[in-house]
Order: sequence, then structure tokens, then C-alpha cells
Amino acid sequence: MLNFEEDYTPAAPRMAAPAPMPTAPVADAPAAPRQAESTQQRVRAADKRIINGATDVNQLVPFKYKWAWQKYLDACANHWMPQEVNMSRDIAQWKDPTALTEDERRLVTRNLGFFVTADSLAANNIVLGTYRHITAPECRQYLLRQAFEEAIHTHAYQYIVESLGLDEGEIFNAYHEVQSIRDKDEFLIPFIDTLTNPQFKTGTPEADQALLKSLIVFACIMEGIFFYVGFVQILALGRQNKMTGAAEQYQYILRDESMHCNFGIDLINTIKLENPHLWTSEFKTEIRSLIQKGVELEYRYAEDTMPRGVLGLNSAQFKEYLRFIANRRCQQIGLDEMFPGVTNPFPWMAEMIDLKKEKNFFETRVTEYQTGGALSWD
Ligand code: FE
Repeated sequence: MLNFEEDYTPAAPRMAAPAPMPTAPVADAPAAPRQAESTQQRVRAADKRIINGATDVNQLVPFKYKWAWQKYLDACANHWMPQEVNMSRDIAQWKDPTALTEDERRLVTRNLGFFVTADSLAANNIVLGTYRHITAPECRQYLLRQAFEEAIHTHAYQYIVESLGLDEGEIFNAYHEVQSIRDKDEFLIPFIDTLTNPQFKTGTPEADQALLKSLIVFACIMEGIFFYVGFVQILALGRQNKMTGAAEQYQYILRDESMHCNFGIDLINTIKLENPHLWTSEFKTEIRSLIQKGVELEYRYAEDTMPRGVLGLNSAQFKEYLRFIANRRCQQIGLDEMFPGVTNPFPWMAEMIDLKKEKNFFETRVTEYQTGGALSWD
């Protein structure tokens, strides 16, 4: 069980400790100006660090990591809620025995079986793990937004399960009961445990490498590889005019997740810049083998969800696609490509990621949802 709050002591002071009070005044010393009575050092941007920082984490400004603040603003501008999406067409299709094949139904339930718990894992990893170890307030600000987005995603999957009247017990237990889903989660657990372990503290090269490794697994493999078979599948259904409400939700989720992944990569690269001693050749070899393992697990999940090929998608395309994404993740964190020469078999996925909320091509949004600015308080 995760129970670390009582005895956790941070690796570095999170607030500057007050300096000791001066002892007896020196008789002939000139009177100090009033401001000098404060013994607190003001935060200087140059002193901030992503990990093991000693500046006050409560002071968002002066900004140093403007990329993190900008991502926080962009993420807020993308705000959406699951109940904005009209699910009535999906419900009618799910009830109609001729509207979807058995393979398409298996794909939907297996897909939700992974996602209904994946974003809870992600949220817990942020809130109980990553957040504590990051000492840059700009990055913490984004992580707070990201944690809420993970909650919205779990809400979205729950909303789809409820709308379609699926067996909740089966879907929410799939991560225990379906081997290909369980294998992905079991791969992740040790890295999540590192960050959430109450005894774990950064501040030594070994601990800082363990943190960096978990951040890479989380951003580049979990959010950067493990979500993508599932995203392609549901968006491919939507492109064939099937389950368009679910597909619209997945589009919003994909847009959020691609930002989570990009934030994670910026975080990783900044930690590398500030701590170049962590990026050793042994470490790089280990990361490459983890990415390789992630690609294998995701490919097995693709085969399990689509044993016969469905929607014009087949497992060979997914093998190519996962290798294409793995190359991209490697490039993004400064590693050589692992699979030279592969191309993207699903170029349409790029348009999905660039979705503009107001130009939604499924055009299924409902308007009852109130945004914060439109709320009535009486
Ligand atoms: Fe995420």
C-alpha cells in the first residue's frame, strides 16, 4: 500500500530556512535599512533546478522554465469534459447487432480494458511520485494540470463504459485478468514504485538516474508508446463512421496525451542538461532496451486486441507504426534511432493530434455543458 506521507523527508529543503537571528547588536554599526530586516533570500531564476533545487517551490515567479508555463497555459486552453460529447449514436450502434462485427466489439472492450485503469496509474504516478521530486514550480504547475487531465480521461472511459452499458466488472478488472494488458502494467509498476516509495530520495547519482529512468519510462513508453495502439484503433473506427462519440473523446485524449509526452520529454532533456553526469553510455543502453521491451509488449497487445486484423488494420502495420514511434521517442531524448528506415503507416494520426477543438470534424458536440465563464451562480 502507498502510505508515505507520515515519514517522508524531502531530499533538499523546499523552503529556504530562516537564517539565525543576529546576536547582540554591534554598538557602532550603522543602522541597517528596514528591508534588510528580512533574512529570506529572494528567489533568483538562475538558481532554480528541475531536481534537487534549493529555491522556494512556492514561488512560481521569477520564471525560469517558460516552456513548462506555456504548456500549462496551452493545456488549460484545451480544456474539455466528457459530457460535452453526445454518445447517442454510439449507443444505437452498440445495440444494433448488424452495426459492428464481433472483432470490432472485442477491439472496443479490450481497448477500454486497458485505458480505464491506465490513466489512474498515470495520475497516481504524478501525484504520489513525480510531483514530490520536481523542485521547479513551473513544472509542478503543469503537473497539477496534467493530473486533472488524467482524471478527465478516466472519467471519459468510465462515461463510454456506462453509456454503452458494458460489463463494468469485466472492463475495470481487465488489467488483472487479460494477460496482454497485465503485462504492460506489470512492466510499469516497478518504475512507479520507485517514485512513490517513501524511502526514495533524489540527491545521489544513483537515485537521480532512477528518477530519470522512471520519467523516461512514464513519458516515452507509457504515454508515448503504450497508448498508441489503442488510439489508432478507436480513431480508425471513427474514420469509418463507427463509435464516433467514443472516437471524439479519444481525439481529445490523444491531444492531451501528446502534450503530456512532450512535457515529459522537455523535463527529461532539461534534467539531462542540468545533470550531464547522469547520461552515461550504460544508462543509454539500459533505456534503449526498455524502449525495445515496451515496443514488444505493445505489439503483443495489438495482436491480442485484433487477432484477425480488423478495420483494414493488421498487425504488420502496427509493428511498423510502433517502431516508427519508438524511433521518434529515441530522437526526442537524444538517442539514436532503433529501427532505421521505418515509415509511418498511419499518416492520418498526425491530423488527429493537431485537432483544433472548435474545428471538430465529427461534429457531435452537445451544447448543454457549461464552461467556467458561463456558469450562473444563483
Ligand atoms: Fe497522461
